[in-house]
Amino acid sequence: MNIHEYQAKALLRQYGAPVSDGRIVMKADEAKTAASEMDGPLWVVKAQIHAGGRGKGSFKEAEAGEKGGVRLAKSVEEAEELTRQMLGRTLVTHQTGPAGKQVNRIYIEDGSDIARELYLALLVDRQTSRVSFVASTEGGMDIEEVAAHTPEKIVSFSVDPASGLSDFHGRRVAFALGLTGGQVKQCVALVKNLYRMFIEKDMEMLEINPLIVTPEGNIKCLDAKMGFDNNALYRQPDILALRDETEEDPKELAASKFDLNYIALDGEIGCMVNGAGLAMATMDIIKLYGAEPANFLDVGGGATKEKVTEAFKIITSDPNVKGILVNIFGGIMRCDIIAEGIIAAVKEVGLQVPLVVRLEGTNVDLGKQIIRDSGLNVIPADDLSDAAEKIVKAVKG
Ligand code: GDP
Ligand code: MG
Repeated sequence: MNIHEYQAKALLRQYGAPVSDGRIVMKADEAKTAASEMDGPLWVVKAQIHAGGRGKGSFKEAEAGEKGGVRLAKSVEEAEELTRQMLGRTLVTHQTGPAGKQVNRIYIEDGSDIARELYLALLVDRQTSRVSFVASTEGGMDIEEVAAHTPEKIVSFSVDPASGLSDFHGRRVAFALGLTGGQVKQCVALVKNLYRMFIEKDMEMLEINPLIVTPEGNIKCLDAKMGFDNNALYRQPDILALRDETEEDPKELAASKFDLNYIALDGEIGCMVNGAGLAMATMDIIKLYGAEPANFLDVGGGATKEKVTEAFKIITSDPNVKGILVNIFGGIMRCDIIAEGIIAAVKEVGLQVPLVVRLEGTNVDLGKQIIRDSGLNVIPADDLSDAAEKIVKAVKG
């Protein structure tokens, strides 16, 4: 799960990391009052969406004026004007995809003067099973560009969880960032706080880009992106409370409500399968017969009729889906339950595309009987390859 920049900065503040003062606004009318609560003479007006690259992004609507979802204002009036221009508009950045994301919240921040822009991130490195630091002097711009063209400017190392974090790690980051004098001490303290926060809050990713050095020689977190481990959210109620569902894929959101493991993909065959292994095998065999899966969907072992109906609705709501393959092995899950779920779903949402159903396992004959008796236009299949062959043929001819 990801959170907004302003929420991430509140967390940073809580952990003693240096951030600017700021106010969140949901309506343009609130902008002037919010900006007046800070001294100026510079304000930063920042669109809050779950995507980076806002500064270099652009708005879909022409009337949103100049480019960029991060803009500088020289007065509270200008801050209000910029807020008005951005709120409700669709911001497109290299991370949002061409559809962009609607801006529903604006963060107005006390503007900083910048001497240097640096990059600092923490992430879970799956290769070493450790938390890694990534630091670079080339902050503010695309770190992917730096990685591609000047990888020597990125320093990365991991922390041994047995011995934990020590000042040495902080000094290593400070050295990588070219910090000197009092900044080193600030950096050591920051690294310590970030690491503690990362562990305590079950984070997956924390990116400060840019981390700046002010003309006075202090360091500050000017931007913050945070991602949290979904599997740990049960023990992070304060983090879960920060969830903004409007930022999530509506299909994946609906799936999570019904406890379905769903991931949208680019292909044309919608899949409904039970068990992650069978789901993977089904995707593979669809590819083998020359088509592409539109999703990964594991309805789980103990699925109910309602769950199956919901899964079916999610699949059919995807306009890319040109055919559906249901591949269920009834172990704990009974084939007749699946069959009833499919019929209930088809009755509710209709069936515009070919549907191949392959059932096997507990109560399979009853399940097949239910589908036959329903009078629905369902293509039955006997085994996995037969099912894949039939659905690909039905879609591609
Ligand atoms: P992103 O484009 O989504 O990564 O948004 P950022 O928060 O990183 O802002 C983009 C850029 O705006 C930064 O790299 C800075 O150059 C600039 N910026 C952000 N905040 C300030 C500020 O307080 N003062 C100044 N002068 N520039 C800022
Ligand atoms: Mg940034």
